[in-house]
Amino acid sequence: MGRLDGKVAFCTASAQGIGRATVEAFAREGAKVIATDINMEKLKELEGVKGIEIRKLDVTSTDEVNALAAEIGAVDILFNCAGFVANGSILDSDEKTYDLSFDINVKSMYRTMRAFLPKMTEKKKGSVINMSSIVSSHKGAPNRAVYGASKAAVIGLTKCTAADFIKSGIRFNCICPGTIDSPSLRDRMKAMGDLDKAMATFLARQPTGRLGTTDEVASLAVFLASDESSFITGTEFKVDGGWSN
Ligand code: NAD
Repeated sequence: MGRLDGKVAFCTASAQGIGRATVEAFAREGAKVIATDINMEKLKELEGVKGIEIRKLDVTSTDEVNALAAEIGAVDILFNCAGFVANGSILDSDEKTYDLSFDINVKSMYRTMRAFLPKMTEKKKGSVINMSSIVSSHKGAPNRAVYGASKAAVIGLTKCTAADFIKSGIRFNCICPGTIDSPSLRDRMKAMGDLDKAMATFLARQPTGRLGTTDEVASLAVFLASDESSFITGTEFKVDGGWSN
């Protein structure tokens, strides 16, 4: 028996990294998963995986989100994973970068929650999982001012929505990963010029001496999506190997 048997999950940013590991874990646990991403070429790698249906979605488009939500109807799990890392201090981040960061990282969740919540509340049961970061209200990191601000906003949005819907049966929680080995993290390391040197810098701040894996974040998402976490709402979970400890 799967831990998510009989549940329908709608997920964003599913083509790679944490989102990909999570949709695979959800499907392994018996959920019917609608896996979405803007990158169809990568998303197509999930074609044919049992329990997963792929759909194109740009989370910055209210029209696309509303249309897909209307088509899909009620879901049990809403996993908002899409995120964008703006590199640099506030002096390096112009207003366009700021607005894009908040659009992809925060407003996307406002969009999907507004689109899916009416039908979810009819079911009187469900779990919304929003992707924040340890770099947020938990911890400052260099060159992450706009990113960290947007991820702190995710925590506020999640907690207040949990309070608003406390009697609805829908639970809202956040995941705050530390440094997780994902394709985009590797790209950011390469962009620093020397991959080995960049990796050494990231590892130096890890008390465990290693980066986290996407599967380690997916395991937490499965727990939050399942009925095992039925008394947990309005909470943020750190999965950071002790970086913020
Ligand atoms: P990633 O950056 O490797 O992949 C992100 C995915 O999002 C890609 O498949 C991309 O196509 C998709 N995407 C980008 N813009 C989109 C849009 N407008 N609409 C729909 N999809 C879009 O993934 P990751 O590093 O595993 O990060 C996933 C989430 O976890 C992000 O929210 C990120 O901020 C958060 N996070 C990651 C880390 C880490 O170390 N990797 C740490 C903390 C938090």
